[in-house]
Amino acid sequence: MRKEAFTTAAPLIPPKPTLEKLREAAAGCRACPLWKTGTQTVFGEGVPHAKVMFVGEVPGNDEDLAGRPFVGPAGKLLDRVLEEVGIVRDEIYVTNAVKHFKWEPSGKRRLHKKPNAREIAVCRPWLEAEIQVSQPKVIVCLGATAAQTLLGKDFRVSKQRGELIQSTLAPFVMATVHPSSILRAPDEQARHEARVAFAADMKKIAKLIREHGR
Ligand code: SF4
Repeated sequence: MRKEAFTTAAPLIPPKPTLEKLREAAAGCRACPLWKTGTQTVFGEGVPHAKVMFVGEVPGNDEDLAGRPFVGPAGKLLDRVLEEVGIVRDEIYVTNAVKHFKWEPSGKRRLHKKPNAREIAVCRPWLEAEIQVSQPKVIVCLGATAAQTLLGKDFRVSKQRGELIQSTLAPFVMATVHPSSILRAPDEQARHEARVAFAADMKKIAKLIREHGR
């Protein structure tokens, strides 16, 4: 049954949460209006106690329909780059700052819309609970929304991408671009350069796991 609207999703967090309990509780969340536009809650997915947690912005069209994060073109690109640098699926957990798809119609298509500050703040307890339960060694913020959600609104991915950021969230926290920005690059050359830079950031993550993995 759907739960009543709250000022944040915090009251919906179950006692003694596990990832499974969180996923079940989030499936009924209607703490912000995005539950009306999304098909379903797209909760995080991956191994419990993953070494690395990747945090994106919001599910896209494919994720909304599948009910799973990072299964669309950007997720496939992320998978390929991770494979290239030697990070395997059973080391990671992927999620988003906001768990419902936000979109606007464009003909027959549903175009992604960026969540606003209020939607991000209302949804944030789900992400905080995922971090608390998973306790990843490394958190990687993919794009400005994830970075500003977890590292503060003044954080600039353009200036600080690839740097290790001091944070109480995890022993190692880094931000880089969202893989969708690589796909949106204006031409082949720009796409190639963006992909090389993204792979370089992922190599740093792979090195961290090798040196500090549990
Ligand atoms: S986007 Fe987040 S806070 Fe809003 S209804 Fe979905 S799960 Fe709840």
